[in-house]
Amino acid sequence: MKIILLVNDGMSDQPCKDLGGKTPLEEAKSPNLDALARLGMCGIMDPIKPGVPPGSDTAHLAIFGYDPFHYYSGRGPFEVLGCGGSLKLQPGDIAFRANFATVNEDFIVLDRRAGRNIPEAKELVKLVDGYIPPSAPDVNVYLEHTVEHRLALLLRGPGLSPRISDVDLGQSKVKLNECKALEDTKTAVQTAQMVNEFVRNSYDVLSKSPLNKKRRIAGFPPANVILLRGAGMLSKMQSFGERYNLKASFIAGGALYKGIARALGMQEIPVPEATGKFNTNTLAKGRAVVANLKENDFIFCHVKATDSMAHDHDPQKKIEMIEKIDKMVGYILKHVSLDEVVIALTADHTTACSTGKHTADPPPIAITSSEVINDDVVRFTEKECAKGRLGRILGVDVMPILLDIVGKTKKFGA
Ligand code: ZN
Ligand code: ZN
Repeated sequence: MKIILLVNDGMSDQPCKDLGGKTPLEEAKSPNLDALARLGMCGIMDPIKPGVPPGSDTAHLAIFGYDPFHYYSGRGPFEVLGCGGSLKLQPGDIAFRANFATVNEDFIVLDRRAGRNIPEAKELVKLVDGYIPPSAPDVNVYLEHTVEHRLALLLRGPGLSPRISDVDLGQSKVKLNECKALEDTKTAVQTAQMVNEFVRNSYDVLSKSPLNKKRRIAGFPPANVILLRGAGMLSKMQSFGERYNLKASFIAGGALYKGIARALGMQEIPVPEATGKFNTNTLAKGRAVVANLKENDFIFCHVKATDSMAHDHDPQKKIEMIEKIDKMVGYILKHVSLDEVVIALTADHTTACSTGKHTADPPPIAITSSEVINDDVVRFTEKECAKGRLGRILGVDVMPILLDIVGKTKKFGA
């Protein structure tokens, strides 16, 4: 038996005023999601634990069975792995999400994306790549341009710690944040100092660059500083395939999700139409799941835009996205046999359209195959799934339950 894990980012919600107190899942026409609920066993899932609003990264680690309290130190490594560039992460590297920004001489952030469109980015990166902080001559800073204003960046060398604060606060018109140690250790204090030296140097070098002078003359904001956030060190993690003895692949459009799956050693099934955005082709994803099932024991398929629409406070578009996901599920259901496949459908967390934020409300989950004992739940919604026989489980419970259904668990005891 094979496993298909469908994670729809932030798909569950709280009651929306615009929908007369219903959630997008309750309002959407989703006969195929409902079929999974009807044929399977349903429940709700606390991705991390009750009362903790999950990040997408920590939630996915948990759902894959890797306790995020043990394995997670920041988002940076997953972003670097996910951008698909040539930077190769090594154990001990501190990885960041980074971006070009525009500051004035007082380090007030004028545009935290430096106008977003930076055709000179690759040339500008060359000016600061390989930087050696004066306070740490055996540490190097490596960076690479990804898209628009974004960069992948890592520190490599001895004595580094990811326990440092963000330089980029996600805001403009404020003074650039100084990087600080988040714990009282020598390595954290030193790493924060290196980051501050790098940021300062990036300003000194980039603001003098003729490329930025040209940008200024042409009316574009100069890309004159590099801001960092999400510091993290990649944990040593046993690959997903080895850990569970499964050949595992993934389909995802968003960089973070590709990065997490790559960190766990899953193989990518490329789907060019999977964009990680509202325009993504969910049906193409469904086709790719079905087409690659023979070659794999486990396929993780991620859809991002349900979360993005909630961050944008747009319940109507979230409904449209759920209905697109429903068509993907319909295609899969039509082309696989539930005698041979178990399908798990869930979200990595709830994202509320009202506040635009992730919440601690446990999302619904349905686990469906002809092996499972179903229940009376016939709709895949927040309220209905809570009545199912799975009850309320944790994110880290998902993999053991799936492994048991496919016969990959061992008896505990005699
Ligand atoms: Zn998420
Ligand atoms: Zn989100």
